[in-house]
Amino acid sequence: MTATTARAVPASADPAILDGVDLSALARRVGTPCHVYSASAIRQRIAALQSALHGLDAQVCYAVKANSNLAILQLMADAGFGADIVSGGELWRCLHAGIPAARVVFSGVGKSADEIADALHAGVARFNVESADELQLLQRIAGKRNVTAHASVRINPDVDALTHAKISTGKSENKFGVGIDEAREWFAASARLTHVRLDGLHVHIGSQMLSLDPIRAALQRTAGFRRELADAGHAIHSIDVGGGLGVCYRAGQDHPVAIEDYVTVIREALAGFNGRILLEPGRWLVAEAGVLLTRVIRIKHGRQRTFLVLDAAMTDLIRPSLYDAWHDIVPLAHHERLLQTYDVVGPVCESSDTFARDRALPRCEAGDLVMIKATGAYGASMASTFNSRPLVAEVLLDQGRYAVVRRRQSLDEMVAGEQPAQNWEEP
Ligand SMILES: *Cc1c(COP(=O)(O)O)cnc(C)c1O
Repeated sequence: MTATTARAVPASADPAILDGVDLSALARRVGTPCHVYSASAIRQRIAALQSALHGLDAQVCYAVKANSNLAILQLMADAGFGADIVSGGELWRCLHAGIPAARVVFSGVGKSADEIADALHAGVARFNVESADELQLLQRIAGKRNVTAHASVRINPDVDALTHAKISTGKSENKFGVGIDEAREWFAASARLTHVRLDGLHVHIGSQMLSLDPIRAALQRTAGFRRELADAGHAIHSIDVGGGLGVCYRAGQDHPVAIEDYVTVIREALAGFNGRILLEPGRWLVAEAGVLLTRVIRIKHGRQRTFLVLDAAMTDLIRPSLYDAWHDIVPLAHHERLLQTYDVVGPVCESSDTFARDRALPRCEAGDLVMIKATGAYGASMASTFNSRPLVAEVLLDQGRYAVVRRRQSLDEMVAGEQPAQNWEEP
C-alpha cells in the first residue's frame, strides 16, 4: 500500500461551481459520469478569437471533430462560425445545427465518392484536397453534376509540430497533405480541371501545439509558395491556416500561447496576401470549457499500488489511453484531506483504462465526486460503447442553468440496429 503523505491540502471554501452551476447538485440530477460544458467559457473563447482577428478578412471554421455535439455546433453557428468537417456525418450535423454549407470546408485523406457528391450537392464552400487521386475524383463528380468545386491543396510543409506523434500531421512521413513539389505540379496542370477551381492553400501540421515556432515555419512556407504561384499566374483566393492551438491540460506546466500572439504570427506570415484567411480551431475553443464529472466507485488497495476506481472510463475519455495525455483530476469534496498517491482507473477490462498513474490527490472515499478537467475536446466525440457501456450524458451549463444536450444512452439505444441472424440472404 502506498504511504499517505503528511502534507495537507487547504480546504476550498466553495463546492465546485462551473458557469454558476453547483456540480454536486448537477451530478445528483443527471447522474455520473457525464460530460459538462460551460457555454460561457466557449463564448469567451469565441469572442477572444473574433477580437484578435479584427480587421482581417477571416472566416473561422470550427473543427467539428473536437466536439460535435449539436448544442456546441449551435454556439459556433450563433457566432457566425463555419465548420471544418472530415466526414459526411459531420456535414449532416452542421446542417442540422444551422451552420450553412457555404461556411463549411471539407478536409480528410479518405473522402469517399458518396461523401464528395453529397458535399457538392449541399454546396460546401471548399474541399481541402489531400491527394492527386482525390483531385481527379472531385473533377469527375463535379463534371457529372456540371458544377464547379472550389478546392485548396493541403500542403504538407514537412514541419515538426513538436507535439505528440499521434497528433502530428505536418511531417512528410504523415499521411496528410502533399509536398510543395507535388502541389506545384497540380497548379501547373490546373487548366485541365474544367470543374475544379484550384484557388486555395491549406496547412494543418498537428494538434496541441504550445509553441508558435512550427506554426510560423509552416505559414512562412505556405506564404512563400503562394507568392511563387502568383508569379506563375495562379491566383490564390484563400489560405487556410488549419487548427492545432494547444490548451492547458496540466496547470503550471502547459503554457498555451496567447490568441493575440497566434493571430499576430498569421498576420505577419501572410502579410501581402489579399485573399481570405480561414482558421480551423477545434480544441482551443472547447477543451478547457469541459469537465468529465465522475464518482468514485471504490478504492482498491493493490499490493503495490492504490487504485482510485471511477465510474468513468476510457470509453468516455480515451486521450490518456491513446496519447498518454495528462488531465488534471480534482476531487470535489471540500473538507481538508491528506494527500494520497493513486492510479486513477476506470471499470473497463483493459489495463490502458487508466486516467493517471502515481497521481497525488486529496484522499478520496467511495461515492466522492471527482472532475477530470479540460475534457471539452476529443472527449465525448471519441467515445465508444466498449464493454457495453452506454454513451454518457452531455450537459451544457450557462450562468447558473443547465440543459442536457445529450441524454444518457439507454440500453435499447445502445443495441439499436443489432438483431439475431434470421433473414439469411445471398449477396
Ligand atoms: C483536427 C483538425 C483540426 C483541429 O485541430 P485542433 O488541434 O483541435 O485545433 C483542424 N484542421 C484539420 C484539417 C484537422 O484535421
